[in-house]
Amino acid sequence: MANKLHQGTLCVQAGYKAKNGQPRQMPIYQSTTFKYDTSEEMTKLFDLESDGYFYTRLQNPTNDLVASRIAALEGGVAGMLTSSGQAANFFACFNICEAGGHMISVAGIYGGTFNLFNATFKKMGIDVTFIDQSASDEELEAAFKPNTKLVFGETLSNPGVRVFDIERFAKAAHAHGVPLIVDNTFPTPIFCRPFEWGADIVTHSTTKYMDGQGVQVGGAVIDSGNFDWDAHADKFPGLTTPDPTYHGITYTKKFGKLAYITKATSQLMRDFGCIQSPQNAFYLGLGLQTLDVRVRRHNSSALKIARWLEQQPEVKWVNFPELESSAEHGLQQKYLPEGTCGVMAFCLNGDKSYVGRFMNQLKLATIETHVADCYTCILHPAMHTHRQLNDDELRAGGIDPSQLRFSVGLEDPDDIIEDIRQALQAAK
Ligand SMILES: *Cc1c(COP(=O)(O)O)cnc(C)c1O
Repeated sequence: MANKLHQGTLCVQAGYKAKNGQPRQMPIYQSTTFKYDTSEEMTKLFDLESDGYFYTRLQNPTNDLVASRIAALEGGVAGMLTSSGQAANFFACFNICEAGGHMISVAGIYGGTFNLFNATFKKMGIDVTFIDQSASDEELEAAFKPNTKLVFGETLSNPGVRVFDIERFAKAAHAHGVPLIVDNTFPTPIFCRPFEWGADIVTHSTTKYMDGQGVQVGGAVIDSGNFDWDAHADKFPGLTTPDPTYHGITYTKKFGKLAYITKATSQLMRDFGCIQSPQNAFYLGLGLQTLDVRVRRHNSSALKIARWLEQQPEVKWVNFPELESSAEHGLQQKYLPEGTCGVMAFCLNGDKSYVGRFMNQLKLATIETHVADCYTCILHPAMHTHRQLNDDELRAGGIDPSQLRFSVGLEDPDDIIEDIRQALQAAK
């Protein structure tokens, strides 16, 4: 192998290597179970004594090929696919933080993840402190408790497209003996690899750019292998003490750098079963092959559109991190120098009814819940995804009640600009 292959090469080649006479494209192992010659071999699998597949609720070869492609792109040691991005964030946190535990999360994150942490984790006995990502070092420091197990943020937040200061939060987490988990959905590992800045675990909603065609929901959890669980053994007994459901194996002792993903697979996937179907994993593998090409186009089109929007009298503000006017332009230059994503936030001059009319007048951009695929789409967080939050809660999460989320697809950017131009006029 050459030293370090570029991301564009890994997109196409990582994970699956066809051997002599094997299919060129990664096969789909569309099978619930796997056959063994002897009872003893099966026993070893159930004891985690040998590697292998036995039931697709826990693991499937197609999924693992695709997960290892994403792990290669992120520079991690191991990964797993989940049925959705929600399941990925749930597994990533719950694998190390249980009832009685506490975690710190950035407040301005994806609405679904916010609900998971704020409502469902609370019911499960997990205490979550939300802080603004621009909180001072002192405020961040004050959020830690003796039972804190992890810190969570999004590289680029959905829907605000704010840039997360990964290195600062990683340092704070490590000073307290806990890992930093980063949801890297929007930039993808093409534009940012959070492990290079000290993050320990990365999650993805693969439903977005990784799939890219809007055909299937999925998620991924990738481990850097860098966090030393044994050095903080008292905080992470699930990884560092014997698991009675596998005859007393201790994950860190037996699996070393693979401990975290092995535990998530053998406990959480076994018990919750949020696995991605092999068919969906195959689609995801296809999407990954063109990821490098697609996200660069999404990003360059979005930058052109953001610069144009900024000049329009009907537009109050645009937040796109590459714009010099963006509050996080400095962080973008540090963490995402080659690009961010195709999503931006902007606000119109006008009341809610103008905003509604503008959206209804768009012909090419569609109104939909999704973001980050080949179709240009728009959504009003306050009226749609975040409608359970009142205006104060929206602002606390860094969302202006009248802001729009605009996701630039793969259409020609000049046609998208023309569509926005006619809608701004027709809505008057
Ligand atoms: C969409 C999204 C999720 C949730 O993923 P699903 O695949 O919809 O479950 C999590 N995080 C971010 C940043 C997202 O954009």
